[in-house]
Amino acid sequence: MAAKTRKFSEDYVKFGFTFIEKGQSQLPQCVICMNVLSNDSMRPNRLGRHLKQHPTLVLKTKEFFSSKAESPKRMRLDKSGSYHTGVSQHLKASFEIAKETSYYR
Ligand SMILES: [Zn+2]
Repeated sequence: MAAKTRKFSEDYVKFGFTFIEKGQSQLPQCVICMNVLSNDSMRPNRLGRHLKQHPTLVLKTKEFFSSKAESPKRMRLDKSGSYHTGVSQHLKASFEIAKETSYYR
Protein backbone atom coordinates (compact mmCIF):
# COMPACT_ATOMS: atom_id res chain seq x y z
CA MET A 1 0.00 0.00 0.00
CA ALA A 2 1.25 3.42 -0.84
CA ALA A 3 1.73 5.75 2.06
CA LYS A 4 -0.61 8.67 2.23
CA THR A 5 0.89 11.39 0.13
CA ARG A 6 -0.13 14.91 -0.47
CA LYS A 7 -0.82 16.07 -3.97
CA PHE A 8 0.11 19.34 -5.55
CA SER A 9 -2.84 21.62 -6.12
CA GLU A 10 -3.11 24.40 -8.69
CA ASP A 11 -3.95 26.54 -5.74
CA TYR A 12 -0.37 26.34 -4.51
CA VAL A 13 0.75 28.34 -7.49
CA LYS A 14 -0.04 31.44 -5.51
CA PHE A 15 2.55 30.45 -2.96
CA GLY A 16 5.18 30.31 -5.66
CA PHE A 17 5.41 26.57 -5.70
CA THR A 18 5.62 24.00 -8.37
CA PHE A 19 6.37 20.38 -7.71
CA ILE A 20 8.75 17.67 -8.69
CA GLU A 21 7.93 14.02 -8.83
CA LYS A 22 9.90 11.67 -6.74
CA GLY A 23 8.90 8.08 -7.02
CA GLN A 24 5.21 7.92 -6.29
CA SER A 25 5.03 11.21 -4.52
CA GLN A 26 5.14 14.87 -5.36
CA LEU A 27 7.40 17.26 -3.56
CA PRO A 28 6.72 20.99 -3.49
CA GLN A 29 9.49 23.08 -4.98
CA CYS A 30 9.86 26.79 -4.47
CA VAL A 31 10.30 28.55 -7.82
CA ILE A 32 12.29 31.30 -6.16
CA CYS A 33 15.03 29.48 -4.30
CA MET A 34 14.39 26.08 -5.88
CA ASN A 35 14.31 24.48 -2.47
CA VAL A 36 12.43 21.24 -2.41
CA LEU A 37 10.32 20.65 0.64
CA SER A 38 9.03 17.38 1.96
CA ASN A 39 5.79 15.90 0.77
CA ASP A 40 4.47 16.57 4.23
CA SER A 41 4.93 20.29 3.56
CA MET A 42 2.51 20.15 0.64
CA ARG A 43 -0.12 22.22 2.37
CA PRO A 44 -1.06 25.86 2.27
CA ASN A 45 0.18 26.90 5.68
CA ARG A 46 3.60 25.35 5.15
CA LEU A 47 3.99 26.74 1.67
CA GLY A 48 2.75 30.13 2.76
CA ARG A 49 5.23 30.11 5.58
CA HIS A 50 8.04 29.38 3.19
CA LEU A 51 6.92 32.16 0.89
CA LYS A 52 7.32 34.60 3.75
CA GLN A 53 11.04 33.98 3.53
CA HIS A 54 10.88 35.85 0.24
CA PRO A 55 8.85 38.92 1.17
CA THR A 56 10.22 41.07 -1.63
CA LEU A 57 9.48 38.40 -4.16
CA VAL A 58 5.92 37.65 -3.25
CA LEU A 59 4.54 39.63 -6.15
CA LYS A 60 7.17 38.45 -8.54
CA THR A 61 6.40 34.90 -7.76
CA LYS A 62 3.13 34.99 -9.57
CA GLU A 63 4.71 36.51 -12.63
CA PHE A 64 7.45 33.93 -12.54
CA PHE A 65 4.96 31.23 -12.36
CA SER A 66 2.57 32.45 -14.95
CA SER A 67 5.44 33.06 -17.34
CA LYS A 68 6.66 29.55 -16.72
CA ALA A 69 3.24 28.12 -17.17
CA GLU A 70 2.51 30.09 -20.31
CA SER A 71 5.78 31.04 -21.84
CA PRO A 72 4.42 31.95 -25.28
CA LYS A 73 2.43 34.77 -23.78
CA ARG A 74 5.26 36.37 -21.89
CA MET A 75 4.49 39.55 -20.10
CA ARG A 76 5.15 42.57 -22.19
CA LEU A 77 6.33 45.84 -20.85
CA ASP A 78 4.06 48.58 -21.97
CA LYS A 79 5.81 51.86 -22.60
CA SER A 80 2.83 53.78 -21.34
CA GLY A 81 3.25 52.19 -17.94
CA SER A 82 0.21 49.98 -17.97
CA TYR A 83 2.49 47.14 -17.05
CA HIS A 84 0.67 46.18 -13.88
CA THR A 85 -2.74 46.24 -15.42
CA GLY A 86 -1.62 44.08 -18.28
CA VAL A 87 0.09 41.61 -16.05
CA SER A 88 -2.71 41.25 -13.60
CA GLN A 89 -5.25 40.74 -16.33
CA HIS A 90 -3.07 38.19 -17.97
CA LEU A 91 -2.48 36.60 -14.62
CA LYS A 92 -6.13 36.38 -13.89
CA ALA A 93 -6.70 34.75 -17.22
CA SER A 94 -3.90 32.30 -16.54
CA PHE A 95 -5.38 31.32 -13.25
CA GLU A 96 -8.80 30.89 -14.74
CA ILE A 97 -7.33 28.63 -17.37
CA ALA A 98 -5.36 26.73 -14.78
CA LYS A 99 -8.46 26.23 -12.72
CA GLU A 100 -10.48 24.99 -15.62
CA THR A 101 -7.74 22.69 -16.75
CA SER A 102 -7.59 21.10 -13.36
CA TYR A 103 -11.28 20.33 -13.50
CA TYR A 104 -10.81 18.35 -16.64
CA ARG A 105 -8.03 16.19 -15.31
ZN1 LIG B 1 11.95 29.63 -1.52
